[in-house]
Amino acid sequence: MATLPDLVLRGALVVDGSGGEPYRADVRTAAGRIAAIHREGDPGVRPGAARVVDADGLALAPGFIDMHAHSDLALLTDPAHEAKAAQGVTLEVLGQDGLSYAPVDDRTLPGLRRQLAGWNGEPEGLDWSWRTVGEYLDRLDAGPDGHDGMAVNAAYLVPHGTLRALVTGWEDRPATPAELLRMRELLAQGLAEGALGMSAGLTYSPGMYAGTEELVELCRVVAGAGGYFCPHHRSYGARALDAYAEMVEVARRSGCALHLAHATMNFAVNRGRGGELTALLDAAADVDLSLDSYPYLPGSTTLAALLPGWAAAGGPQQTLLRLADPAALATIRQALEVQGSDGCHGVVADWTTVQISGVRTASLRYAVGLTVAQLAERDRQSGFDAFVRLLTEDALGTTILQHVGHEENVRTIMRHPAHTGGSDGLLTGDRPHPRAYGTFPRYLGHYVREEGVLGLAECVEHLSARPARRLRLPDRGLVRQGYRADLVLFDPAGVAAGSTYEQPRTLPLGIPYVLVGGVPVIDDHRRTDATPGRTVRSSGQSVRGSA
Ligand SMILES: [Zn+2]
Repeated sequence: MATLPDLVLRGALVVDGSGGEPYRADVRTAAGRIAAIHREGDPGVRPGAARVVDADGLALAPGFIDMHAHSDLALLTDPAHEAKAAQGVTLEVLGQDGLSYAPVDDRTLPGLRRQLAGWNGEPEGLDWSWRTVGEYLDRLDAGPDGHDGMAVNAAYLVPHGTLRALVTGWEDRPATPAELLRMRELLAQGLAEGALGMSAGLTYSPGMYAGTEELVELCRVVAGAGGYFCPHHRSYGARALDAYAEMVEVARRSGCALHLAHATMNFAVNRGRGGELTALLDAAADVDLSLDSYPYLPGSTTLAALLPGWAAAGGPQQTLLRLADPAALATIRQALEVQGSDGCHGVVADWTTVQISGVRTASLRYAVGLTVAQLAERDRQSGFDAFVRLLTEDALGTTILQHVGHEENVRTIMRHPAHTGGSDGLLTGDRPHPRAYGTFPRYLGHYVREEGVLGLAECVEHLSARPARRLRLPDRGLVRQGYRADLVLFDPAGVAAGSTYEQPRTLPLGIPYVLVGGVPVIDDHRRTDATPGRTVRSSGQSVRGSA
């Protein structure tokens, strides 16, 4: 890499990530790191040859860390990654919810691509030739043709459902001892190649077919490598507290650090019960525990995720066959509308809360923005029939918003002392959840400035230093001399999400500068298309780039 120009960020209000009192200072970067911090009253920085950025009136914070990103393919196809860079994100954690594309083999990749098209799209012309975690991380570092790297840094978790797909297929059964051994080997290899831990998606096929013992066994491997376990657990609805408790138990028995993905207490049954979750977490003082959340009420996933687990067994092709079989359909209807399926978090499907956010098939675009109930009314069908027709015609490619969140629960959870920020943002689809483009500015604008739910310094700590500690990155997450110059300058009085449910890809306001390794990726509100970001691997260091 060419020599970086030094920068002097002059007169910034430094919100340094520690949670301590902000202070005014001039901050100089050099060679990708924070070279000097001159507090007000110190002799000022002599800029010399450095470029001076007037940061008067702006807050200077460590770059934000997105603890739950779904940019696994987006970073390979559009390395400028404006959706996140413009929010001040300088590091994303990929491989979430137990489902991504490494490690993989030729036999398993087509099923994963089909299953995950609703999350990640199916980018045209993408070269899918990586197979191991190391090869996938190398691909991120290489960038697509003509590039080198990405706008932001990226870390990866080995996805448990992907391990299962490789070893047991999408079969609804426990792993045999030999299969469990093979999963442990693949996991250990992925961790050795740079993954920071393991994710799981326990309402998704095939991860949902794993029992507690399997997770404990795998988490022992993660703990041995110094990583952490990041589960999307078995229920955010009827049995949410049991599901959280199971994950705490897995962490306790395996000795593995635990990071709860998109911690929520959703659906009518959990109204006002956020405090029961935080009490459960506080009672687990013996577990190294953290969590992330997105600052919005609706959830977002695929329409097919609502199906009961058994109906997703065998993979997408088998699922589509069941949707065409009247006997299987009757049982699925019973599960969704009478019993409450595991895919529906144990509650009965309410079609008025399920809103179509994206379709794969162009001829179905009329459905985007409608709830399944509205779609049913339009077509004079039952909600269940409209659901099945859409799944079938869209070959399971439909994505949804689920309007099942509670404001008081969101606030209770974000105040927890182990809370961090994670967007869970799906970047593809016609009308994705606005959290993909808005999570970090919405924390700072809505929940800090407008609502006062968090203090400014407190919130910045949630978005930078705390996640850096969870990831065990010794030189990120704080504004300190010697730390990496992953930095964001924002206007505390004006920062705001621009994205809405109607216009979900509108960029945020009030974030004029974002630096990754000292290189501006957002410069005076404009994207630079620079790609200084690199993978962050389990050694704690980027493998390439400036040391
Ligand atoms: Zn999830």
